[in-house]
Parts: sequence; structure tokens; C-alpha cells
Amino acid sequence: MCFNHTHAHTENSVLLKTDTLSSPQGAKGKGRRGFVKAIVGGGAVAALASCTTNPVTGRSQFVGLAPSGAELDNMAAASWADLKKETPITNDPRYTQRLKNIGGRISRGAGRANQSWDYAVFDEDTKNAFVLPGNRVGFYKGMMDFADNDDQIAGIMGHEVGHVAASHARERMSMQMASQGAVLGGSLIGSSVFSGKCNNMAAAQRSSCLDGANRNTQMLVSALGIGSQIGIVLPYSRKHETESDLLGVNYMHKSGYDPTQAVRLWEKMAADTPSRQPAFLSTHPDPADRAQVLSDYIQRQERMGSQGFRNINT
Ligand SMILES: [Zn+2]
Repeated sequence: MCFNHTHAHTENSVLLKTDTLSSPQGAKGKGRRGFVKAIVGGGAVAALASCTTNPVTGRSQFVGLAPSGAELDNMAAASWADLKKETPITNDPRYTQRLKNIGGRISRGAGRANQSWDYAVFDEDTKNAFVLPGNRVGFYKGMMDFADNDDQIAGIMGHEVGHVAASHARERMSMQMASQGAVLGGSLIGSSVFSGKCNNMAAAQRSSCLDGANRNTQMLVSALGIGSQIGIVLPYSRKHETESDLLGVNYMHKSGYDPTQAVRLWEKMAADTPSRQPAFLSTHPDPADRAQVLSDYIQRQERMGSQGFRNINT
């Protein structure tokens, strides 16, 4: 999404390709047309102007169309509350306290202990976990039960904190907004996220105002990765997943967990294929591939001695 040159045709094809790879919705014809319109309407200029280099990954990201931090946080808070309504959370300290302890250690390892973190364990036998903007980390009970030890849970926690550190939600939302032609950007998003402003309008205007508000809210919710029907998070792109996997083992190492347990967890996931849920299968990279990539990475880092586990590009 971010470019080192300015040839328009190349940019368009790269944009479309990236969009198709990273978002299931983006592959649809409607998304593509909206995206082309966005480019024609000046979206490319905005995109080029709003690339930033993420300090953690060293990668240039397009985040210019994402809402402000406060708006993103409001959206995430609403989604977090909805998710807790759809799937009850457990208050069993064998889960909640354990997750909080592991989360605390990993956030220290990630240099983010000064931020506030919110953890919840959803009372469902699903092998999944997710993170929402504003450091809200959700684990399903099934994920914690599946892990052999704290280190494996720390591997998943590290992965989720990796998504935060690498600003994946902002990047993904920017991509989504661009793909849906929402190049009016900030003002459109900011004014319509919450439908409150529609209530003061005359009836005739109110209905179209609410339509717009709903549409934008939908867009944001889907970009945030909340699938309302299935109650789990839609996939980040493979690139995001790999970045988070590698950042996750760096944080494990810094927190005194055994990074090789992350490999072990993905091997276990791969072996568990027959009982894996379809949603998990279709929305995540292949577990055996993840185990292999992580194993190679960990071996490279160990060879580097004290310089290892610092930069995910080495
Ligand atoms: Zn992930």
C-alpha cells in the first residue's frame, strides 16, 4: 500500500492485488470498483501522503484513512461490549488470573507495561484469541485448555501484542476504507460513527443520516475484524500474522518464556487438524507453515546470541 515510486498504473495494480490478498471482502467486484473510484477521486494522493514507517516492524504502512485514536478506541470499546454480550466471559480465576499474569509479563517484555490492558476469557470451547484496538485481548477458554503450559499461552499473547505493536488494526482499517471508496476520510468517519447526531434532524433527513451512520459503522466493525455472526475475529493478512508471530516470540524471549513452545503450539494445532473448526481453518495461515517459519526464525535468533530476538527482519 505504500510506494517508493509514483507510476500511477503500477500503483493501481499493486493496490488491487494487496487488497484482494488481505481482505476476503476486497476480492468482490464491488470492492474493486469502489477502490478504483477512490483512486480516481484522489485517494492515491491521500494514500501516498499518509504512509508511515512502523518503528517496531520497520515496514512502511498506509494508515492515513484510519480513524483517530479516540474514534478507534470508541469503536473497539463498543465491539468489546458486544462480544461479551454474545459470548459470556468466565470469572474463574484459574483462567482470568492466569491470563492476566501472562499478559502482564508479555506486556513488560514488549515494553508496553505502562499502557493499560484489558483481558477477557470467553466461556467457549474455541481455539482462538484476538486483540482489539485499545489493548483489549480476548482468549477463548478452548484456547487456554488446548495449551500445554503458560509458555504456549504466552506465545498466543505475544502474537496478539504483536498486532498492537505493529499497528495492524489501523493499517487494516485504512485499507478497508480505501477499498470501499471512503476517501472523504476523517470527516465522514468521524461524524457518522455514532448516529447520535442524526437524532436532532428532521424526520426526512434523519433516516438517510442513520443509513449513512449504519453503513460507516458497519464498515468500521468489519475492518476491525469482528464477524458479528460468528463472534470471532476475521483474519488479518498473512503478512500481518507472520509479523505478529515473530514479534510474539521476541516478546516471549524478553519475558523469560521459552520461544520454542510457540513452535510446539502450532505443531499441536497442525496435528489437531481433523477437529479444527472450519472458521479457524479458513481464516488463518496453515499451522504447520507457521510452526516451520517460527522454528527457522528462532534458530536464526539463537545463533545471533545477545543480539537475537530484537529485529523481526533478521
Ligand atoms: Zn493474528
